[in-house]
Amino acid sequence: MRFVRFQHNGDSPRYGWLHEDQVGEVQGDLFGSYRRRKTTIPLKDVRLLAPTIPSKIICVGRNYVDHAKELGNEVPKVPLIFLKAPSSVIADGEAVVLPPQSAQVEHEGELVAVIGKRGRSITAESAKEYILGYTIGNDITARDLQKTDGQWTRAKGFDTFCPFGPWIDTDFDPSDALITCRVNGQMRQLSSTRDMLFNIGVLIAYISSVMTLEPGDLVFTGTPAGVGTLKAGDVVEVEIDGLGVLKNPVKAE
Ligand code: ZN
Repeated sequence: MRFVRFQHNGDSPRYGWLHEDQVGEVQGDLFGSYRRRKTTIPLKDVRLLAPTIPSKIICVGRNYVDHAKELGNEVPKVPLIFLKAPSSVIADGEAVVLPPQSAQVEHEGELVAVIGKRGRSITAESAKEYILGYTIGNDITARDLQKTDGQWTRAKGFDTFCPFGPWIDTDFDPSDALITCRVNGQMRQLSSTRDMLFNIGVLIAYISSVMTLEPGDLVFTGTPAGVGTLKAGDVVEVEIDGLGVLKNPVKAE
C-alpha cells in the first residue's frame, strides 16, 4: 500500500492512501489505529506533501563502496551516521534552493526507510517490525562546506536540502532495487540497493543502540557513486524501481 500526506482544496494537511490515481483519507493515527476511507479524490487534484513530519532524519555516510572511493574516502568499519535538520524537508516537486554560501551543491539519491513504531536497541532481525515502509530521498549536500567544516551540520542542513517522497510504500522490498539519479534527464547515478555496505537491519540496529527511533523518523541509507553538482534551472530526479520517482527543480536563493 502507498500512504501519502496531502492537501485538497486548501484544507489542512491529512494522511491518505493511494489506489491507482485516486486518494482516500486515512482517519486516525497512521502509526497506530486508523481507518481507510474510500478513494474518492483524484490524485491530480491534490497537493502531495512530504509523507511524514520526522522528529529526526538519520543519514548514513559512505554506505556504498564505489561512492566512498569516488570521494577518496575509506570504507567505514561501522556505519557512519549523521543528522539532517527536520527543517530541511521539502516535498516532491518543491524547489531545492542553492544557498549563497556554497559553490558546490550536489545530489545524493537514496533509499529511505520510514520508521513506523517507537523503538530503542532494536535487533537487525526485528528491524522490519519497526519500519512502516520505504520512500525516496535526495540527501542534498554542499560538498565544499562538508570538506571545510569537518562537522556536516551546515553542509547537510540547509533549508530545502531534504526532498523526500512522493509516498511511503509498505510493500517495497529493499534487498535488490535499482536506484538511479538523473539531472535534466541525464543519468548521474545508477546502482542497486544490494550494493549497500550495511543493510537496513544492521543500520536500524546500530542507530537505535544510540537513539530512540520515533514514528515518522527517516533513515537515509546512503548514496551510490555518481554524485554531481546542481545548478539553478536543473531538474533532479531520483528513481527507485518499484517505488517511484522523486522530482525536484533547483533554483538560486
Ligand atoms: Zn547521503
